[in-house]
Amino acid sequence: MIKEAVILAAGIGNRLKEKTKNMPKGFLEFDGIPIVEWSIQKLLGIGIEKIIIGTGHCHSMYDNLIKKYPLIKTVYNGAYKETGSMETLCVCAKEITSDFLLLESDLIYDNIGLSVLVNDVHRDVVLASGETNSGDEVYLQTYFSDKERVLQDLSKDKTKISCKHEELVGITKLSQKVLSLVCNYEKENKNTIFKLDYEQAMVFVSKSIPIYVHKIENYLWGEIDDICHLEMAKTFIFPKIIESENTRKIRREILLNPGPATTTDAIKYAQVCPDICPREKEFGEVMKWICNELTSLVASTGEYTTVLFGGSGTAADEVMISSCIPKNGHILIVDNGSYGARLAKIASIYKLNLTIFKSSTCDPIDINELERKFKTNEYTHLGIVYHETTTGLLNPLNIICPLAKKYNIVTIVDAVSAYAGIPMDLEKLGIDFMASASNKNIQSIAGVCFIICRKVELEKTKVFSMRNYYLNLYDQYNYFEKNSQTRFTPPVQILYALRQAILETKTETIEKRYQRYIECWKILVNALKKLNLKMVVKEENQSHLITAIYNPNNPKFSFEILYDFAHERSFTIYPGKIDNTFRIANIGDIKPREMERFVEILEKYLNSIK
Ligand code: PLP
Ligand code: MG
Ligand code: MG
Repeated sequence: MIKEAVILAAGIGNRLKEKTKNMPKGFLEFDGIPIVEWSIQKLLGIGIEKIIIGTGHCHSMYDNLIKKYPLIKTVYNGAYKETGSMETLCVCAKEITSDFLLLESDLIYDNIGLSVLVNDVHRDVVLASGETNSGDEVYLQTYFSDKERVLQDLSKDKTKISCKHEELVGITKLSQKVLSLVCNYEKENKNTIFKLDYEQAMVFVSKSIPIYVHKIENYLWGEIDDICHLEMAKTFIFPKIIESENTRKIRREILLNPGPATTTDAIKYAQVCPDICPREKEFGEVMKWICNELTSLVASTGEYTTVLFGGSGTAADEVMISSCIPKNGHILIVDNGSYGARLAKIASIYKLNLTIFKSSTCDPIDINELERKFKTNEYTHLGIVYHETTTGLLNPLNIICPLAKKYNIVTIVDAVSAYAGIPMDLEKLGIDFMASASNKNIQSIAGVCFIICRKVELEKTKVFSMRNYYLNLYDQYNYFEKNSQTRFTPPVQILYALRQAILETKTETIEKRYQRYIECWKILVNALKKLNLKMVVKEENQSHLITAIYNPNNPKFSFEILYDFAHERSFTIYPGKIDNTFRIANIGDIKPREMERFVEILEKYLNSIK
């Protein structure tokens, strides 16, 4: 799997004159977005987790991009004026830890080229196109080895190349081995070849290790080195790239149910990957990375760890309830909605010593009453839902869990519909075990659930007698720690999608995601007020991730008809869990303008039954 990319962006861009006097070429804009950002987004879209940008001219502009894209690492080539692209690549080499994609910063391109390279069976591959007539072509001389093209030479000088039908694009996949050879070549020739570029170094290395050439005859791309290229790119190439990429878009459905939520196309496509045995080291690394990152989003990896299971959110709840309480334990479960009731149901099926703390599903928990329970010293564990999706009530765990900890009670939290949507810090919240699933606010597809555990509490469960097998938390944790494999077959493709979702979450950040969700929620709430629809939970007690709404006081109202009316317009709404209500969630990859479209639909329907 390719996880790293390098963008060579040190050049001055002399030929663009005034346009690049005070900025690098990568900041030329197309549709208001700098070309380097187009590139970053395309790389992110195929699962690249680290982008190293080799900078020189106006390097601080690239450094500033890190705020927006934390996956970027910039490396400065201080000698950029006197050296060529090969020196910039050498400077970047110390940051490169695996096979990687190498790109030039002045390219616009169809993202299919990236997929083609990633999927090419060879590790060292140069992307080529047919003739572009750009006026600045780098022609490739190739030879065939086993029916595959291998790089032999390249030149802008037509007379030096016998076949002029293959042009270098400037996107390449390279192995660590070839990287070290091109860097050696540069070291040896630094003093004799002026401004050595990486292409020449590849030609040299290809003599000993074949660098393959993958040609896409009608590939859409353009390199921007002068005003003429820029004009051509803007008027002819860029619109075609957009059109071509749009042909691969997947029909967008806006899910306003509380998960599975709307996902990006990159997440949908991340499931389409080469077959791999899940016992393969590479896959173990992917799972370790996922666990680490899921933990890091809410806690320190020193104190906490994540354990993965195939299954939905309920499976994670069942893992915690059936694995974390010793035989002589006594769990107090707060039931203020369906999911709290579900925790209690699971506990009763496993015949745990259980007490239920019943509370309203619309109003806040009486904390004093709860503390009185804690004070009795009867309870070893507390089970509670963070965000009660039944009504959208948010339980104040920031008060409840630290209070439970004060009485030495282990806290077990269903954060299925809160995690990754609401910023949280497990240590500060006093959470020992927390469950969530892939298809909620982390915005991936359904099929994986996970438990984030305080390590010291997890270790204590080692000696608990097992009530379960597949769902046993300690066994799953221990086996994975030792083998970097799950005990049983993991849902491979779903984990690749989850990996992509984590990359997107890190780029957006949970804080900004929460703000986006709230922005959507506000649009909904303002519309509800205008339409005179009443909410079940007071605004200040809501999660702002889902809203339970009373049906309007109009006998003509039908949830089913509203559902169909919205569904025909690509919006999926959700029935209520309590009588006479329906629910609208605002999680997933949804945009405020989409919520605006939904409230128009709602208004239109309500007007139709007036
Ligand atoms: N817990 C909470 C708070 C939920 O909102 C949900 C689902 O909406 C679940 C548990 C159960 O998740 P699943 O349906 O994935 O089993
Ligand atoms: Mg070039
Ligand atoms: Mg160029």
